[in-house]
Amino acid sequence: MITNIDHIGIAVKSLEESIKYYETALGLHCHGQETVESQKVKTAFFAAGEVHIELLEPTSPDSPIAKFLEKNGEGIHHIALATDGIEGQLKKAADAGVRLIHEVPIDGAGDKLVAFLHPKSTHGVLTEFCQAR
Ligand code: ZN
Repeated sequence: MITNIDHIGIAVKSLEESIKYYETALGLHCHGQETVESQKVKTAFFAAGEVHIELLEPTSPDSPIAKFLEKNGEGIHHIALATDGIEGQLKKAADAGVRLIHEVPIDGAGDKLVAFLHPKSTHGVLTEFCQAR
């Protein structure tokens, strides 16, 4: 079951520069930074009420975020839906004909299991499922 919107992922060129914006202009507090090797990104998290903002900076030119930045520039990259059963959620999506980027969950930021659905089969939204371990 989907329980809530966990976070919104935003692709940025520089974490340092964008953290300044979120802290200074919006007054949000960065509550964690982490490198996610599986996705070749550095992340920074902010809480906006129940929903988090996840900034993503590529750590390598072949990172999916580097490719996204090249094509689209900075901006909203994905929406993450928290689920209490990621395997079942993936099966439900696959059964409905959705193209999965990850058929099996991978390690994500914040010690979570994550898996992505392809935006070509989700009406344009790169969708992440995430589940706390
Ligand atoms: Zn995410």
